[in-house]
Amino acid sequence: VSYGGSKLLTADQLKALVVEVPDFPKQGISFKDVTPIFADPDALGSAASLLRGQIAQVTDRVDMVVAAEARGFILGAALARDLGAGFIPTRKRGKLPRETQDIEYALEYGTDTLHMHRDAISPGQNVVVHDDLIATGGTAAATARMVEELGGELVAYSFLVELTALRGREQLPSGAPVLSLIQFDG
Ligand code: AMP
Repeated sequence: VSYGGSKLLTADQLKALVVEVPDFPKQGISFKDVTPIFADPDALGSAASLLRGQIAQVTDRVDMVVAAEARGFILGAALARDLGAGFIPTRKRGKLPRETQDIEYALEYGTDTLHMHRDAISPGQNVVVHDDLIATGGTAAATARMVEELGGELVAYSFLVELTALRGREQLPSGAPVLSLIQFDG
């Protein structure tokens, strides 16, 4: 059996695979579709290993990668595997079966709640928060607060894509380094 190739693509080559879809899911939003990166074997492997390289610059130990549903799960799990860490999903209401830590956070209109299993993190563990994309930073900030409430040590935020003009990185608690592979202005 021969498993697929592992050509290393650059961050610029990965960026070229992102498809910008105007006015999705609503007027005025430029949606960044990263699924072509997930679909390409070389790109998927390269994304995980470049993210891993960025994280390795800022910490020498990661115990857990925490990621938000749903697109955050894809590279989050690959990254955890590459870092020799565990993976923890955060989810929307009603999806996790055991005792959860919950946090309400603001959306453009109204609020939403994120949940994670309370026993998923032990105090003092080194934790990376990952998502496919940071826009306003609300999702990652809420995730980070839950990690802190459970006693986790935030060692990095890691994003595949950052929408820099929205300055989401400024919303993130803890002062941990904020890493991203691909940047778009808007
Ligand atoms: P935020 O909480 O504003 O940082 O939004 C982050 C979440 O919303 C991520 O999980 C993204 O997958 C999704 N998201 C927000 N804006 C975009 C966009 N322009 N293109 C693709 N996904 C987006």
